[in-house]
Amino acid sequence: MDVDAVRSAVAGSGALGAPQLGLAAQGRSDDAEGSAGSRPRLAAPQLAVLRRYGSEHDVAADDLLFADGDPSYDLIVLLEGEAEIVERRGQPDAVVIATYGPAQFLGEMGLLTGQRAYLSAVASAAGRILRIPAAQVRVIMAEEPDLSELILRAFLVRHARLTHRGVGLTLVGSRFDPDTRRLLEVLARNRLSSRWLELEGSPEAERIVRELHVPPSDLPVALVPGSPLLRNPTSRELLDALGLASEHEIEADGSEVCDLLVVGGGPAGLAAAVYGASEGMTTTLAEDTALGGQAGTSSRIENLLGFPAGLSGEELAARAALQAQKFGVRIKLASRAVALCSGVGSHQVRFEDGEVVTAKSVIVATGARYNRLPSSGSATSRGSASSMPRHRWRRRRAPGARSSWSAAAIRRDRPRCSSLAPARRSTSSSGPAASRARCRAT
Ligand SMILES: Cc1cc2nc3c(=O)[nH]c(=O)nc-3n(C[C@H](O)[C@H](O)[C@H](O)COP(=O)(O)OP(=O)(O)OC[C@H]3O[C@@H](n4cnc5c(N)ncnc54)[C@H](O)[C@@H]3O)c2cc1C
Repeated sequence: MDVDAVRSAVAGSGALGAPQLGLAAQGRSDDAEGSAGSRPRLAAPQLAVLRRYGSEHDVAADDLLFADGDPSYDLIVLLEGEAEIVERRGQPDAVVIATYGPAQFLGEMGLLTGQRAYLSAVASAAGRILRIPAAQVRVIMAEEPDLSELILRAFLVRHARLTHRGVGLTLVGSRFDPDTRRLLEVLARNRLSSRWLELEGSPEAERIVRELHVPPSDLPVALVPGSPLLRNPTSRELLDALGLASEHEIEADGSEVCDLLVVGGGPAGLAAAVYGASEGMTTTLAEDTALGGQAGTSSRIENLLGFPAGLSGEELAARAALQAQKFGVRIKLASRAVALCSGVGSHQVRFEDGEVVTAKSVIVATGARYNRLPSSGSATSRGSASSMPRHRWRRRRAPGARSSWSAAAIRRDRPRCSSLAPARRSTSSSGPAASRARCRAT
């Protein structure tokens, strides 16, 4: 299935995504209003700093600045002129999501996480731009605290709006299908903007399946801008298509030795990776589902030291991932560790896909997971925690009753390899201590 066929099949589905917001008929988004958070205007001294990291170019009206499907894209700062962010560019139902003018910049969180572009940017008037490569933007995030704060804030707000609109990847599948729910969980846990077309009662879903000749056995399917059609992909294949699975290639046979391997990218694993790398250790962080772990799904964390106003799980995950990148942590996403084999002075961890990583020390920070009811049918009827409305998590927790977390039958994770598995704990031993990283070997 080629990329163009997928692109034109998605084009028609805009009629579903946009009317929910009442935008398609106008062909323009409601995000046209200016707001300091999402569309800041840079002051002259800030522009002068940014000029050090990029190169200036003249652009003509209609010049393409980046296109959906591009493997990565630059941070574009408008010095003169105007540019538009367009969804489904070139299709009859293209929508302008936002328009930016002089001293404003384009881009969203995906630029920092390495995600493929899923929107296009077009110069709507002749002008001049500053192009800053993504690698340089990461340097800015590490070296220029004021600009870093401003850019991160704008990217997070934009990302939240795009996620709310359901821009980007389209998933077609049945609500009763465990694979659809598995992929929805990966999308939700990774906080990826996407739209889900339910097979049950959605003419758009039926049309896509018909046009792309998808047999029922191939469902669910994912349509990623710039990528061939994905038929019931694994989590790894889905994240790969989005450009997120692995930032750095690691020798798959374990011949490369790192100082520290951290398994699990929740708050504990991210913290361990940042501390290890900041001490000069070559550090690899392997995460099965999504950076941020359980905390990444929280709408607001109030008790994190140093953040009196609280912060969202998404922001915590984004900040921690940036910090890890800053210190050179190699991040392996969609990597489930299944076995640990310890030798003299080094350890080998094998992943589900057969990759092996050798490390002088290993920290297992795989957190907790919830027991499932052993009743028949529960496997097909359960929803994913992260796709549940977030406020329901909060309501279930009585005010001030922290112990209700352990009452929810949290238990320590039991890795699939006996050599990795911690001793089984009763639920009464869960609680704050259950969140700490477990160091099996150093
Ligand atoms: C909705 C929600 C709101 C919350 N709000 C708060 C709050 O406000 N304040 C608070 O203190 N706590 C809160 N918590 C609890 C808090 O999120 C957890 O205590 C914390 O996330 C535990 O961190 P962790 O890194 O130990 O484990 P986790 O967050 O569970 O992370 C473990 C990670 O390891 C990965 N992993 C597991 N097995 C493997 C494997 N074999 N290979 C590779 N990776 C693997 C998992 O995918 C996961 O990302 C909240 C939790 C939830 C779900």
